[in-house]
Amino acid sequence: MQPTATRKLDRSRQLQQRAEKLFPGGVNSPVRAFRAVGGDPPFVVKGRGSRMWDADGNEYIDYVGSWGPLILGHAAPDVVEAIERANRDGASFGASTPREADLAEAVLEAFPAMEKLRFVSSGTEATMSAIRLARAVTGRKYVIKFEGCYHGHTDALLVKAGSGVATLGIPGSAGVPEEFVQFTLALPYNHIERVDDAFKRLKGEIACVIVEPVVGNMGCVPPAPQFLDGLRYLTSREDALLIFDEVMTGFRVAFGGAQELYGTRPDLTTLGKIIGGGLPVGAYGGPAEYMDQVAPLGPVYQAGTLSGNPLAMAAGLATLRHLRDNRELYGRLDRAAATLVDMVADAAHQAGVAVTANRVGSMFTWFFAGEPVTDWDSAAKSDTALFGKFHRALLEEGIWLPPSQFEAAFLSAAHSMDDISQTVVAARKVLAAIGR
Ligand SMILES: *Cc1c(COP(=O)(O)O)cnc(C)c1O
Repeated sequence: MQPTATRKLDRSRQLQQRAEKLFPGGVNSPVRAFRAVGGDPPFVVKGRGSRMWDADGNEYIDYVGSWGPLILGHAAPDVVEAIERANRDGASFGASTPREADLAEAVLEAFPAMEKLRFVSSGTEATMSAIRLARAVTGRKYVIKFEGCYHGHTDALLVKAGSGVATLGIPGSAGVPEEFVQFTLALPYNHIERVDDAFKRLKGEIACVIVEPVVGNMGCVPPAPQFLDGLRYLTSREDALLIFDEVMTGFRVAFGGAQELYGTRPDLTTLGKIIGGGLPVGAYGGPAEYMDQVAPLGPVYQAGTLSGNPLAMAAGLATLRHLRDNRELYGRLDRAAATLVDMVADAAHQAGVAVTANRVGSMFTWFFAGEPVTDWDSAAKSDTALFGKFHRALLEEGIWLPPSQFEAAFLSAAHSMDDISQTVVAARKVLAAIGR
């Protein structure tokens, strides 16, 4: 299709050239470079509500939401105010502050499976620490993960990982010695019988199963009925720990995350993204019996200079309080996202473009694939070139989707029905052009 090419990107291109001299690929996280979809990555200078503006003054409706954290939209007033107020009293102390307990109580209220938690500064740290703890608690070495699930960039988990790893077509990563991943088993998502097989093969040696209870990092892939319960059953039977990586799904698919939505209780939970309200926060937690194994009470070492940072705690607390006091927001998000996702899928159908729409609450993906997408193998059949076209053309129309087929998109509470209509109109136009 011919892009309308009304969007000027001169300033962004200059900034990209400057950034490329300073950072590998011009970015501080790979997927931001837009390599998977082509086109120039706009440099963002401002966000407000559902909208972002780039350095050339172009306006976008944003469906990335900082990759998940911004469930209240950009610069939500109560979050901004909380950060500003906290900042005036000092940004960091390296000593305990009351705010850490405030945020911890807000998290525990939503996640009854956790009795105690530990704050860290990223999702990567949360999953890395949770696995260390699971190995310590069980005295076992092996970890089961699932193909297409991303748990951050810690060495042992960069095996058949989704997200940027999938986007770039890298099987794992250079620089990770084979020996570092020899205790990691990557199994296909939604295939419970394979997990059963692995437990039989490595009887008494598997420390834990870590899973995205709804996958966001190969695009949105919901759990098959009974998959999560199956994992719960097998891990309990084999005395292994079940870790739900809810860095993306926590406070997103429901206030209490996927464990509330599906009613399956893990042993350990990892969180991030929304609990930091746009600032860097991660957390891992579970029963006190396990968490008390962490230093200084127990032998599992884990620490962080900026862990529990006052500004991050303030941003997270303002976000969680807003969500807690407006629980009806989840129903609204679910209905609005259903409207958006279904209308765009209909438009694709009418244009003769094969699209499979996956959605759980306000996280979703339009896979350019004709068959159901239930695991990595089916996700990988998507027409990524066609997705790239769709992405570039939508960006021209002022609609910003994640720049990869294998990343979930998000709706925020700040998106209006007008935003959704505008998006559907743009998508119809783009899909009709693609389908020709
Ligand atoms: C984003 C994400 C991570 C990694 O979090 P970072 O803060 O980027 O380190 C881990 N697990 C899941 C499920 C995620 O979505």
